[in-house]
Amino acid sequence: ATWRLDEGWGGAEVIPFGPLTMSPASAVLHYGQEIFEGLKAFRHADGSVWTFRPERNAERLQRSARRLALPELSVEDFLSSLRAAVAADEHWVPEATSEESLYLRPFMFASEEFLGVRASHKVEYYVISSPAGPYFPRGVQPLVVWITDEYARAGAGGTGAAKCGGNYASSLLGKDEAAQHGADEVLFLDSETHTSIDELSGMNVFAITTDGRLLTPALTGSILEGVTRESILQLARDRGLEPVEQRLVMSDLLEQVTSGEITEMFACGTAAVINPIGEFRAHGGTWTVADGGSGETTLALRQELTDIQYGRTPDRHGWLTRLV
Ligand code: PMP
Repeated sequence: ATWRLDEGWGGAEVIPFGPLTMSPASAVLHYGQEIFEGLKAFRHADGSVWTFRPERNAERLQRSARRLALPELSVEDFLSSLRAAVAADEHWVPEATSEESLYLRPFMFASEEFLGVRASHKVEYYVISSPAGPYFPRGVQPLVVWITDEYARAGAGGTGAAKCGGNYASSLLGKDEAAQHGADEVLFLDSETHTSIDELSGMNVFAITTDGRLLTPALTGSILEGVTRESILQLARDRGLEPVEQRLVMSDLLEQVTSGEITEMFACGTAAVINPIGEFRAHGGTWTVADGGSGETTLALRQELTDIQYGRTPDRHGWLTRLV
């Protein structure tokens, strides 16, 4: 679909996947005015296809749009775009037994042919899809996480809470740095004091304590408000854990890991679902979480979440929306 300043949204259609034609002077190519979302379509045993809490993604796309001076798309239009995309690509939704899904990537960008610095008067919105297996090549294995002291993902007053391409551009070097240290992922600290945990490059972070608390960084404006994060807070509450959203100072956390007060850590997001964190590395040393393996509660939460998504357990919170 295309949005024009004087006309609003129009021209929604399903077209075959292929190259886009655009002017080299398109605003997005110069100023990065782009936002996106990520969801999955899950096949259930009866053949129907569902997605998980899409209204949360629709609302987040609206918040991202406001921050990036892009036009909002209504929740209904967002949902119909997902339905149209999945109906067209239904044969790509993997079988229920495969533990795979169809990843959906809605995105919006400034397409006006204009080199001045101002919000674009013309914007495009697309949804593409791709079958998705495990996020990490090794599958559900404890992650090694590199704590970068050089790069931050987002600054105060910036776009950290928006899902915009530029945030990911700024996290790429941190991911490279992590790989050079043999780590799977990079952990970004807050950009202001460089002491507290923000998030990984594409996942929110959690810790479980011996006294039954589930710790995760509070939404301070520099981390992404993950749909998986919010769902895990609910599932944790359901099983009697006490969710605590607060500023988490990295050095305190590592001390609690060393003392055994923190027994499990994990990271979560739509693509990776829930993945245990087995070890942290930084310039100052390495810290193994418990025995470095996959924690029991972490795996139970992962199982419960995927059981809901694949329709293997009752959807007691009403999180699923049927697409096909
Ligand atoms: N943080 C970042 C930076 C991300 O890219 C993602 C993935 N969208 C998340 C957290 C997790 O968000 P969600 O659970 O909505 O996928």
